[in-house]
Amino acid sequence: MSTPNDRTRRAPRRPEPVAVRRGPAGPVPGEVQVLPTDQPPEGATSPDARPRLSFAVPPARGKAPKHLADYDLAGRKKALKDAGLQPFRADQLSRHYFTRFTRDAEDMTDLPAGQRDQLAGELLPELIHEVRALRADGGRTIKHLWELHDGVRVESVLMRYKDRTTLCVSSQAGCGMACPFCATGQMGLTRNLSTAEIVEQVRYAAQASERGDLTGGPARLSNVVFMGMGEPMINYKNVVGALHRMIDPAPEGFGLSARGITVSTVGLVPLIRKLAGEGLPVTLAVSLHAPDDELRDELIPINSKWKVGELLDAAHDYYETTGRRVSIEYALIKDMNDHAWRAQRLADELNARGHGWAHVNPIPLNPTPGSIWTCSTQETQDEFVETLRRAGITTTVRDTRGSDIDGACGQLATEVLNQERGRAKA
Ligand code: SAH
Repeated sequence: MSTPNDRTRRAPRRPEPVAVRRGPAGPVPGEVQVLPTDQPPEGATSPDARPRLSFAVPPARGKAPKHLADYDLAGRKKALKDAGLQPFRADQLSRHYFTRFTRDAEDMTDLPAGQRDQLAGELLPELIHEVRALRADGGRTIKHLWELHDGVRVESVLMRYKDRTTLCVSSQAGCGMACPFCATGQMGLTRNLSTAEIVEQVRYAAQASERGDLTGGPARLSNVVFMGMGEPMINYKNVVGALHRMIDPAPEGFGLSARGITVSTVGLVPLIRKLAGEGLPVTLAVSLHAPDDELRDELIPINSKWKVGELLDAAHDYYETTGRRVSIEYALIKDMNDHAWRAQRLADELNARGHGWAHVNPIPLNPTPGSIWTCSTQETQDEFVETLRRAGITTTVRDTRGSDIDGACGQLATEVLNQERGRAKA
């Protein structure tokens, strides 16, 4: 409340500033706003059904056999000792696995012939096997569908670029985060993958790259992104174990550069903060997809728990702690989240926390089969990108590798399952 005294102390009235400070960027009257609730999710049995956010992790049916990639070197030695084998063999087995990418006992000629099978059998059981391998983009992309020991299926995608070879891995079978535009989000969560089940995807990719399976001859796997099935933060412990196996130098791990590894999350704020403290300077990607809580509440169900502001604060702190620039993922969906004012709002939110700490990756939506949502028009996408760039935000549109092979997360698994169900009915 103002008092006469306040009034007397007030500075002399200045002329109104010419440019009035704008409020937050907001909707333009008459614009089209498509909502995430406009269609029931894929596979829904009633029109008002929606995928449900769930943090519950169903128990696995039977444990995956133990594998050397589940342990650090000390753990591997102990496992061999417990099996009555010589602990120092763990070092040799690890070198075969992490530097020659093999689990085949016959390749291990430095091990005594009479013990090879037993050693490999103890710590290198088969954890994943190929159900399908599909090639796209002239052989520069290979998508795999894997089956795990209990019949559960997951996907990974290997992509060769001019300057790098990247593997997109799954951290869970299915996902409980229920994002309505994501094929995996419609499945619900089946189970977490073990550390070794994640690492095996990487080992196969490193082996395939080295063997020259990708067009262009032998390549070295350089990057790994956790952008396949699942929410890595819900499987935090096993994901951190897998990160160690990827980053630790041989014979502990593959010795990949931490900067080439990206953990992508829908936004579990406390776990983003925990990851920052692990001393593993991997890149963090945040699947934001909307800069305003109004839309994000509908589009990304976990926003009901952690809001855009809290999420961006945690992402910014991650940058401060690790020195790694954060990627902001933004799937552009026509008339839903692609308005220029949202690009401006996103830029304002990022710039309010500092400059140069984040870059934005708009991704053209890869619609799930039967979806009414589509990707933005080229013109809208260009305007979105330009708005961000004008505001000083580094922005790179993600290329849509493998979209002709059900490239979007979870689509291949769904497609193969539907085919098999079709066959079973016929
Ligand atoms: N749970 C993690 C990893 C999931 S997939 C996360 O949400 O970040 C990796 C990225 O692909 C996420 O940004 C996800 O939102 C995005 N994505 C999922 N389905 C998509 C689709 N149909 N089109 C475009 N991007 C999609």
